[in-house]
Amino acid sequence: MAFKCGFVAIVGRPNAGKSTLVNKLVGQKVSIVSPKPQTTRNRIQGILNRDDAQIVLVDTPGIHKAENVLNRQMMDELQHACEGIDILSLIVDASVHFGAGDRFSIEWIKRFEGPVFLLLNKIDRIPKHHLLPLIDRYRQEFEFAEIFPISALTGEGCSDLVDNWLTRLPEAPPYFPPDQFTDQPERFLAAEIIREKAILTTREEVPHALAVLVDSFEEGKDLIRMRATLYVEREGQKGILIGKAGATAKKIGTEARKELEEILGTRVFLEIFVKVQPNWRQNAVLVRQLDWRRQLEQISEAQE
Ligand code: GDP
Ligand code: MG
Repeated sequence: MAFKCGFVAIVGRPNAGKSTLVNKLVGQKVSIVSPKPQTTRNRIQGILNRDDAQIVLVDTPGIHKAENVLNRQMMDELQHACEGIDILSLIVDASVHFGAGDRFSIEWIKRFEGPVFLLLNKIDRIPKHHLLPLIDRYRQEFEFAEIFPISALTGEGCSDLVDNWLTRLPEAPPYFPPDQFTDQPERFLAAEIIREKAILTTREEVPHALAVLVDSFEEGKDLIRMRATLYVEREGQKGILIGKAGATAKKIGTEARKELEEILGTRVFLEIFVKVQPNWRQNAVLVRQLDWRRQLEQISEAQE
């Protein structure tokens, strides 16, 4: 059988399970999963490699109405992420009622011309008889190419989904080397992991106001030295992140370091700092500055 290769974008509301699905399918942590929405700020690609196929999965920022500069940038990023893909997959949380946000998602996907799959996620949370009415509900809204009930958490339904994607992907040689599982630079991954640990550790009103920048990343003989700055908007948020006698910051640093050591396969020395930058989310220049992918692009443009 000829080799198949193509791009599948996973789109959906914040918290629907996009990152969980990409991680499940790729089998290695490429994307940030969190109980709070909107942590996937940048486009992250996970690469599913098989003997007969390569599927490049494009995880995306959540679909939502653009209210501030950051939201708008995320919606632009989403639009951008969906250019040149073969299949769009809208993932929804089947354990919550169909609402205005879901209708907004459906309006959004109508701009896509190729096949659109609907993934009804989190079926591990609902009784089976809830599925049929839900499928009917969505069918009234849009003509989906396929509808798959899945659980990104347990993996239920996921292999059927992959097989079905494959039938619709073009015959093509692999796009990335098969040993690669993400196109993200390690430094960006580090920033995202630190960000995830900060969110999971604090569980307060910090997440949306938090950006992480890895200021230095030096590869030594058997050690990587990193210094990262966590930017927040208010003194109060800084206090939460630092914690009593620095205990929270220390915990964030330790957990991030452990995970980075595992992923990078080397010892890591990590220092973290917390800085207040009022209203950085309303400031387009700062949002850009804190966006690692754009920084990289700027660096490579400057070098050309
Ligand atoms: P994203 O914002 O769409 O990327 O959502 P995430 O992948 O970060 O998932 C949001 C939350 O939903 C996390 O707490 C996940 O563990 C949880 N979640 C995702 N998929 C499932 C699922 O299939 N079943 C259950 N029970 N929880 C899930
Ligand atoms: Mg996500």
